[in-house]
Amino acid sequence: MSDPRMTPRDHSVGAPLWLLAELTYRCPLQCPYCSNPLDFAAHRDELSTDEWIETMRQARAMGAVQLGFSGGEPLVRDDLEALVAEARQLGFYTNLITSGLGLDEARIVALREAGLDHIQISLQAGDAEVAAAVAGSPKAHAKKLAMARAVKSAGYPMVLNVVLHRHNIDDLDAIIALCDDLGADAVELANCQMYGWAQLNRAGLLPSRAQIEAAEATTARWRATLAARGRDMRLLFVVPDYHEDRPKACMGGWGAIFMTVAPDGTVLPCHSARDLPMRFPRVPEHSLAAIWYESAAFNRFRGDAWMPAPCRDCDERHQDHGGCRCQAYLLTGDLSATDPVCDRSPDHHLIEAARAEADGEARSLGELVSRNARESRVFCRG
Ligand code: SF4
Ligand code: SF4
Repeated sequence: MSDPRMTPRDHSVGAPLWLLAELTYRCPLQCPYCSNPLDFAAHRDELSTDEWIETMRQARAMGAVQLGFSGGEPLVRDDLEALVAEARQLGFYTNLITSGLGLDEARIVALREAGLDHIQISLQAGDAEVAAAVAGSPKAHAKKLAMARAVKSAGYPMVLNVVLHRHNIDDLDAIIALCDDLGADAVELANCQMYGWAQLNRAGLLPSRAQIEAAEATTARWRATLAARGRDMRLLFVVPDYHEDRPKACMGGWGAIFMTVAPDGTVLPCHSARDLPMRFPRVPEHSLAAIWYESAAFNRFRGDAWMPAPCRDCDERHQDHGGCRCQAYLLTGDLSATDPVCDRSPDHHLIEAARAEADGEARSLGELVSRNARESRVFCRG
């Protein structure tokens, strides 16, 4: 225990249930709301196939049951099928979170044979032109539609994920119609949350309150239409935190049920935490169990002893755990602050100012900073 990054084990801490394996930060697209760290270009190392397999074994031995393969674009790793096969053998329920680029019929079959349970494809818009502007690729949209159809024909339960923002939310009717046409089983209409690249581009992404209300009405209308048709396509509408007055219980609590392993083996309590001014340990330098139970980073925001006022005495502190640490830091510069989304926070005026900004004129799509290695290098230290 001489390593200052490690602390004595607290035996009341439960096991992680969820492992998100970010296999790579490489991605052919350039979404301006990407949740990868701003300085991803500084982190080019990737765990080897054997190191990922060992990481998955350790996570399963600790009790994790769900495994998401994500990135970047996980399909750029040509060992993905081997990793899926190993995960299946270990007994994980596996999900591939992909843009659809890098997929083809042969890989869909190979992934199925390897035992992949579920594929989630992201769409940028209902309209090819907006999709091209968001993704930074004129061909991606057509490829995604083709792969969504192929995934469905291969018999997978298919979830489509559409990140909503100021420039596509008014087109929600067409987006849902497209998802219906593609045969989706579920659609996540996930308003962009303001982390990483999205926070950088917030002035061009956050929808106004009126846009959110119109989108909620469209979603409700579609739910009724689908039910009347007997069509089982679940619509999940996720409101942006900035339009709420209470924070979410981010990741079910810091280091409570969820862990992310970044491409280079850095272990994080959520995929956005790499932008925090903290040092997170890595596998294989430490075991996953040591990181989860004993690292100073994972123990720092467990329980409620760390909480400042007003959370400290609040009767809701065991429901939302004081909100999101990344959001608190990004908005206030203080890792321990109450999440400003909460209307009891002394910093809630920052959220109100962002809402007022969203009622004004937005930055155009062309003015947003694209997520690519060139832009990322601006944020790389040293
Ligand atoms: S959000 Fe866009 S740029 Fe980021 S990893 Fe996903 S597809 Fe790639
Ligand atoms: S004061 Fe803190 S604990 Fe209470 S509702 Fe707000 S964020 Fe949650």
